[in-house]
Amino acid sequence: MKRNPSTTIFTRLLLGAGLCFGAVQAHAQTPEFTRQDTLRGSITPERAWWDLTYYHLDVEVNPTDSAIWGTNTIQYKVLEPHQRMQIDLQPPMRIQKVVQNGKDLQFEQDGNAWFVQLGEQQEPDSVNSVEVHYGGKPQVSENPPWSGGLTWRYDSNGRPFVANSNQGDGASLWWPAKDHMYDEPDSMLISVKVPKGLTDVSNGRLRKVEQHADGTSTFHWFVSNPINNYGVNVNIADYVHFSEKYQGEKGELDLDYYVLRGNLAKAKKQFKDVPRMLEAFEHWFGPYPFYEDSYKLVEAPYLGMEHQSSITYGNNFQNGYLGRDLSGTGWGDKFDYIIIHESGHEWFANNITYQDYADMWIHESFTTYSENLFLDYHYGKEAAAAYVIGQRDLIQNDRPIIGAYGVNQTGSGDMYPKGANMLHTLRQIVNDDEKWRGILRGLNKEFYHQTVTTAQVENYLSKQTGRDLRPFFDQYLRDVRIPEFQYRMEGNKLMYRWNNSVADFNMPVNVHVNGKAQWLEPTTNWQELKGAPKKAKLEVDRNFYVTAAKATS
Ligand SMILES: [Zn+2]
Repeated sequence: MKRNPSTTIFTRLLLGAGLCFGAVQAHAQTPEFTRQDTLRGSITPERAWWDLTYYHLDVEVNPTDSAIWGTNTIQYKVLEPHQRMQIDLQPPMRIQKVVQNGKDLQFEQDGNAWFVQLGEQQEPDSVNSVEVHYGGKPQVSENPPWSGGLTWRYDSNGRPFVANSNQGDGASLWWPAKDHMYDEPDSMLISVKVPKGLTDVSNGRLRKVEQHADGTSTFHWFVSNPINNYGVNVNIADYVHFSEKYQGEKGELDLDYYVLRGNLAKAKKQFKDVPRMLEAFEHWFGPYPFYEDSYKLVEAPYLGMEHQSSITYGNNFQNGYLGRDLSGTGWGDKFDYIIIHESGHEWFANNITYQDYADMWIHESFTTYSENLFLDYHYGKEAAAAYVIGQRDLIQNDRPIIGAYGVNQTGSGDMYPKGANMLHTLRQIVNDDEKWRGILRGLNKEFYHQTVTTAQVENYLSKQTGRDLRPFFDQYLRDVRIPEFQYRMEGNKLMYRWNNSVADFNMPVNVHVNGKAQWLEPTTNWQELKGAPKKAKLEVDRNFYVTAAKATS
């Protein structure tokens, strides 16, 4: 997802850009969780017994009355015998019937969750399916992509321009799904029937287009890799298409672009950032994770979203974030923020996916950090460092980056700029850029096409760096204090320690003593800086996200 404007800084930034904010403040309030939050956010017994293998979402999208009707065939493997299945679909959408092996099944609704009673014994290891018939007028997004729902607009020629966006709010806003991130189908077919003259672009590759006698057509898109539920998308418009091929690490990658008819010339110029993005990210993170499904950039009626293999784009064909450099350094004007950021999510969000919404930093911290690696690749290390350090002005330290588990609750918007600075700090600790690159590529290999927890990522990074990083992550992900490098004179001795930190914080740090760089291993206990000159001037390397202060006593 893109930066969430629920934090005031982004609200300010975006208000400046003329966007409006209706429903974003709710996130900032003290959360009180309900049974519905638990049904949505936890792996309930009615979810745990079955493993998703395949979806066929087959829908008709009708811009005339803002309705969606169709079926979702859910194929699953039985892990344990159980006959009650949870399917999620949020009102006002409703399930009409559920069919298994030709028989209608009983089901009951509990808010956004629907419990289906399966008629037949579910044998472990067997693969079965249910066909869910549903429809209605899904929630309309008040502020896409930050508030979930459908967006029904028209282009300048009066043709419909329709898209969904629903990270956080959930795929179940518009189609019946197992709406928890831990489980993904191995593949998916998305069939979308649209009015005459319009094109649907969804995820994966276009398998075929069926023309119907009444002038409507059905587009069949097949995704041959696991896909997270919020990544599934429909984009319906009078699109024009152009394409190119990219010679990447895994061979030839198809790049397909879909934009509104009037924007072809602008897009052909602006989308030159796509091969530049792939070159930088394949270098840092390894091969693009979905060669089989191609890479697409699709114009949408909102700013942007990381829909897997069909990144949506609405940045007005200009550099920066709606024309602005979020770092305030000038480096953010060198690239199209939406192309770089949303595509970075193909590695961190679509390849490596959080299991619980509380761990959204795995998507946003690495992806915001990826913006600086794009600069590093094309403009050098100094430019990259200036950019990520420049983003510190956006950090609020209002609440921890990790949210509450099991209730579909995300943490602070600091997961963007602070998370990026945490990773930039970790790169300093590793102090070996090739090793660091190997670790980032290793993450994408180790967790290839998987859903993960924070613990898995932390453990991997600890193992690969050869350091116990638990206090480091406790500090930056679970605490709001900025650690302070504190020093003082004790007689003739120069003493130092970490202050304003978690109890066992022990991060090594690069300090300039009278201009000379020196590595120290501070803990929260005072230590003597051996051999320090009498009138020492201390400065902490600015690449570390910490503060420094001389203690008065
Ligand atoms: Zn993002």
